[in-house]
Formats: sequence, structure tokens, C-alpha cells
Amino acid sequence: MVELAIYAANPELSRGRAHEEPAPYGRNQFQRDRDRIIHSSAFRRLEYKTQVFVNHEGDLFRTRLTHSLEVAQIARAIARNLRLQEDLVEGIALAHDLGHTPFGHAGQDALNECMKDHGGFEHNLQSLRVVDYLEQRYAEFDGLNLSFEMREGILKHCSAKNAKQLGDVGERFLKKQQPSLEAQVTNLADEIAYNNHDVDDGLRSGLITLEQLSEVQIFSEHLQLVRKLYPALEGRRLIHETVRRMINAQVLDLCQHSSRLIATANPQSVDEVRQHSPLITFSSGMQKQQLELKRFLRGQLYQHYRVNRMSAKARLIIRELFNVFIEDPGLLPDEFRVYARTDQPRAVADYIAGMTDRFAIREYRRLFAIEEQSL
Ligand code: MG
Repeated sequence: MVELAIYAANPELSRGRAHEEPAPYGRNQFQRDRDRIIHSSAFRRLEYKTQVFVNHEGDLFRTRLTHSLEVAQIARAIARNLRLQEDLVEGIALAHDLGHTPFGHAGQDALNECMKDHGGFEHNLQSLRVVDYLEQRYAEFDGLNLSFEMREGILKHCSAKNAKQLGDVGERFLKKQQPSLEAQVTNLADEIAYNNHDVDDGLRSGLITLEQLSEVQIFSEHLQLVRKLYPALEGRRLIHETVRRMINAQVLDLCQHSSRLIATANPQSVDEVRQHSPLITFSSGMQKQQLELKRFLRGQLYQHYRVNRMSAKARLIIRELFNVFIEDPGLLPDEFRVYARTDQPRAVADYIAGMTDRFAIREYRRLFAIEEQSL
């Protein structure tokens, strides 16, 4: 086994958990965190939540669950390369999207709009809320009681106003500090994963074409290479051979550039990492290519009229559900109804955010379709 770097997060030196617990047996603190995440109900629901394509549009598109697994795979590969703590990046990757609403960003924007007079809604903050409070599994505490390092990594961004109320994990946003390298790695692994699988899913759906994508440098470079190597290759294999090379190039660039930054900064501990500027970054050349790809996806895929139609429906469903539960909390399931007595808007937001795409659609039908039988 390769020895961890001195700047890696060490489970033996964890800042600990909100509720003290006996040390885990046969696994380290971060492995225990990861195991708790996998066994949570929010994690299982990721299977039926989506980012761009709604769950019922096809069985081959990524869901938030497969996305999270891809992020974990990419993040672990990078962590191994940089001699960072793999269990921590795996846990952060598997938990990073737990707070997402149904229907991807359209759902999150709609819920944020509904909550604008009640403290707003941030999906990232919600992921932390899920692991800190909303999971109800243990006798002695709410949430999963994860280690500080795992929670630090889950909270990728946060407004100053919210940071003030979060205690230890909020501090870095006020002091403008960085999280561990494991958290920084997972953040960029997330970016690598979704840019590439959105290319793949976008092509599969037919909403974008190879011709359009050929205008994007990073794609066309690798496409040309594959065509040179395999002139007869076409269809899915051509796409896959191109996308896997793109992922590889981005991972390699990130590892090489970050290694250089780390060597120059020479941090001697995680705390020194936290006080330094970001040490996990792409080279400026790769950053430019990433930006071009993102711009393309935003213009051609995320704003495609068919995606816009689904987003409009999603916003409608979220808004209507929110309004009906605010007007009549008696319609909420019992556990949320009790909690709605102390903070009604937040209880409604938590209930809606926890829904899968298909549950939200069913709930909408149950509440608004006159002919619906099951209530
Ligand atoms: Mg993600």
C-alpha cells in the first residue's frame, strides 16, 4: 500500500463528530462515514433523481446515483495518484448530491424561489442538512453524525449568511479558506464527471450531434484521434472512445498540474492546505477547454427547447406542491406535519427536496387530479 502524503487527511487525526462515539472497529473513521452514507435512505433515492433528463425518459441516462458513483470513481483515481485519503473522497462523492431536489437544477431554482422569504434553498446546504438532521436512523442522534472532514467536503459552497449559522464547517467561508485536498479533488471530479456524461447523454438523446460537438476543441481533438486510429468506427463505440479519452486527459491534467502546485506550496498538514490558495486545479489551457465545453453544453443542451419544456413542467410541479402545503399543512404526511408547527416553510422544503422525480409527479397527481383514486 502506498503511504499517504503528509498533507492528506488522516482518519486518526479527525476533528471528530458532533456526538462522540466509540472508535470504529475494523474500519477507519472515514470508512464508517462512507458506510453510513451508503445505507442512508437519501442515498437510495438518488436512483430516481435526475440532473438533465427526467428519470422516465429512458433507462440509459445517468441518474444522480450513477453520477455519484462516477464522481467517486474519478475522485478516487485522482486521490490515489496524489496519495490522498481515498475513503474520504469516496464518502464526499457519494454524499455530495444527497440534498438535490427532484428534477435537477430546474427543481432547485423553483424551490429556492418559493423559499426566498424564508431563508432560501441551496441544494449543497441541503446535502449537509440531510446528513446532519434529516436522516432518522440512530437512537442517540439525528442525522448520520459524520466526521468534520466529511461534512467539510460535502459543503462545497455556502452564502456568508448561512455560513454564520453552521459553526465549524461554516467558518472557512467567512475566513475565505479552502477545505482539505480530498474535498477539492472531489469538487473537480464532479465537474469532470458531469461535463463528460452530459456529452454522452446529450448525444444519446439526439439533442446534440457529433457535428455540433466537433466545434468544441477538447471533443474534436479526441474525436479526430479516434477516427485516425479506427477509421471504420462509428455510433456508440466512436462516442465512448472519444469521451473516455476526454476524461483521461482531464484527470491527467488535473493530477499533473496539482502535483506541481502542491510541490511548490509544500504544505506540511491539512491545516496548512486549508490556509493556502486552492492546490487542486486544472492547468490554464485545460481550464479554457473546460469552459468552452461548459458553454457549449449550456447553450446547446441545457437550453434545448425540449429540456426547457421539461424544466417548465418541473418548476410548475414544485411551485404548486409548495403552495398547496403552505396553504394547508394538514395535507403533509404526519412526520412533516408535526415539524411544520415550528417551521412550516422549512418543513415543506425538506419534504419536497426529499422527493424523487417520480414521487413528485405522483404526489402532484394525487393532490390535483380529480379522477385520481389513491390519496
Ligand atoms: Mg454532482
